[in-house]
Amino acid sequence: MPNSSINPIPWQGKPEWQEVVLFFDAIERVHGHALGPVRILGNKISSLYDSLSDPIEQLCETCCPGCKDVCCERATIWYDFKDILYLYFGPDKFPHSQIKKIPGQSRPHCANLTKTGCILPRKERPFVCTWYFCPDQTQATQYQAQSIPEIINKIKKLRNQMEDIFCSVTASEL
Ligand code: SF4
Ligand code: SF4
Repeated sequence: MPNSSINPIPWQGKPEWQEVVLFFDAIERVHGHALGPVRILGNKISSLYDSLSDPIEQLCETCCPGCKDVCCERATIWYDFKDILYLYFGPDKFPHSQIKKIPGQSRPHCANLTKTGCILPRKERPFVCTWYFCPDQTQATQYQAQSIPEIINKIKKLRNQMEDIFCSVTASEL
């Protein structure tokens, strides 16, 4: 796997991101057939993200207007290894770059944040953007959407399984 130890946010630069793509392309050529189960898990995760999209958007509509400390500004977010694995083998929507922060009016913010919210479909965001609930959202889920934490746990388990299978298939390359 490309070395990401120099920058605390892995694969930030274009060359590093390109290395990631080349790495997965090479793995796909060598182990494509054996990685079928990884693709199946990636597609399951993608469907679970789809099922969360509307309920979480409803939560955001309740909680986010007027928020004074917007999480997508405050946090520094990036795709981790499991996100990348899922995006490569799951929804076939591999991002053009790592998540970046850009200057904003008051402070830097995630480059995907716009006035109307995140421009990425939920299934193309880092997992943290789905599992993180601020205190207001946590309180609202208790009344609105009991199934959300359950689905998030399912995604978490499937991500771990996906990584385990990928690592066992490609052990000699890692
Ligand atoms: S999720 Fe919470 S912290 Fe983030 S913008 Fe909405 S209310 Fe604010
Ligand atoms: S990817 Fe979207 S949800 Fe995640 S931090 Fe950036 S703007 Fe927010």
